[in-house]
Amino acid sequence: GNADNAGHTTIPLPRDLFQPERVNSRGIEFGERAALNRLVADVATKQTLTLTVKHSAPEDVDRIVSLARDGFPSWSRTPAAMRAAALERAADLLEQRSAHFIALLQREGGKTLDDSVSEVREAADFCRYYAAQGRKLFDNAQPMPGPTGERNTLRLRGRGVFAAISPWNFPLAIFTGQITAALMAGNTVAAKPAEQTPQIAAEAVRLLHEAGIPETALHLIQGDGPIGAALVAHRDIAGVVFTGSTVVARSINRSLAAKDGPIVPLIAETGGINAMIADATALPEQVADDVVTSAFRSAGQRCSALRLLFVQDDVADRMIEMIAGAARELRIGDPSDPATHVGPVIDREAKQQLDAHIARMTREGRVRFAGQAPASGNFVAPHIFELADARQLSEEVFGPILHVVRYRASGLDAVLQAIDDSGYGLTLGIHSRIDDTIEVIVDRLQVGNVYVNRNMIGAVVGVQPFGGHGLSGTGPKAGGPNYLTRFATEQTVTVNTAAAG
Ligand code: NAD
Repeated sequence: GNADNAGHTTIPLPRDLFQPERVNSRGIEFGERAALNRLVADVATKQTLTLTVKHSAPEDVDRIVSLARDGFPSWSRTPAAMRAAALERAADLLEQRSAHFIALLQREGGKTLDDSVSEVREAADFCRYYAAQGRKLFDNAQPMPGPTGERNTLRLRGRGVFAAISPWNFPLAIFTGQITAALMAGNTVAAKPAEQTPQIAAEAVRLLHEAGIPETALHLIQGDGPIGAALVAHRDIAGVVFTGSTVVARSINRSLAAKDGPIVPLIAETGGINAMIADATALPEQVADDVVTSAFRSAGQRCSALRLLFVQDDVADRMIEMIAGAARELRIGDPSDPATHVGPVIDREAKQQLDAHIARMTREGRVRFAGQAPASGNFVAPHIFELADARQLSEEVFGPILHVVRYRASGLDAVLQAIDDSGYGLTLGIHSRIDDTIEVIVDRLQVGNVYVNRNMIGAVVGVQPFGGHGLSGTGPKAGGPNYLTRFATEQTVTVNTAAAG
């Protein structure tokens, strides 16, 4: 997608993605919010339509937030069982239309078939999991102990209007997960998806409305960073859920802190410089396989992806050679071809940034492996670079690029210190056959998700709740048992039962 300064995003899309009856000479319209998010399609070639998504203006943000505020009393009083039922219907609809969403994820998100299939699955899982949690948490006030003559109860309620701001790399699952959690907890939602993936967002919102979420409870705001900033800064926002980069999370934090009015909670899930430690007892074939999957799957565009591999020096050369050998087998290209392992990166800007990093590392003489990518399109080939010191990587590099650092057996402590010093704490991989080593590492590092003797692809809803620590996020973990309560506020009621007679 190319966001320009004219306040809209234009994305070339293949014709077959559109349901023809919704295309006319004026454009394509989605539901009642057509005036805000009019999708204008131009036939650019016989195969390609250009999708133009009109960004909301700051005035629109004000209007949408007021509508969401007006929708709050009724939605927050809707029984939790009914809210849950709507989420369950949404999961069913996602499954019924999975082929359509898979195609959209491939076209708009550049995702491979595998990744697209698992993302639709994950979106449906979020809906069902939050529905199940919500049924338990929200309908009944919980009795609390107290002295004779007094009745105490505790209940969870929605906070108000939640702003939900999401990234392009899981444009269906994270977008849907944030929204359904906030709704389940009794909030109304103003959702601002990433500017790179507006159509997936528009269709997901339409599906949620169809599933029974009232139009007054869920509102879509299309636009880029400044529109997100305007939303966060609005006086009537009662909570913010954000997934994206650490730098944007910080700016949201500052904006919330500077506002007059209520203290607004921020639930943020951000990036990481995720490490793996492979010692001399690790199985080399398995390390190679897991490293390639963790670093290069999804073109490295997962927040959980492996960025920094620490290998014990006795085995380092052999390991790096095996990893490079496995990377050489990867097929890079068209994400709609089921044989493709690595698709494109999200847009030209992302490619330029990654190419610049590759050029710098190459100039510094660090190349251990350089893959081959198609010359046209936003492709970035997998690369492996060797660093003398972990501190040479101080920022998240969001693409198929792996950095390797050697360490001595006696230097494990310094490795753990370096990981800790980065300030991030999202995912960590350990490959070792020594239980004590594993235990020491797990215990020492405050990292959200640890993977032992396997790859670092995880985040299974209800099984491996996902989220990080420090620069990687605030918690609680998405898809985990503590997530929904953070979207709610608590109310205790103390009744003098003696006075009631
Ligand atoms: P990003 O931070 O650039 O954008 C995320 C969202 O924030 C977008 O919708 C964007 O329009 C909006 N935004 C940008 N500036 C804003 C501002 N000033 N105020 C309010 N909103 C603003 O991130 P991205 O490039 O879309 O996604 C990639 C990043 O997301 C990576 O850093 C990755 O690690 C992270 N991520 C984290 C997780 C996790 O669960 N921890 C999951 C996926 C992605």
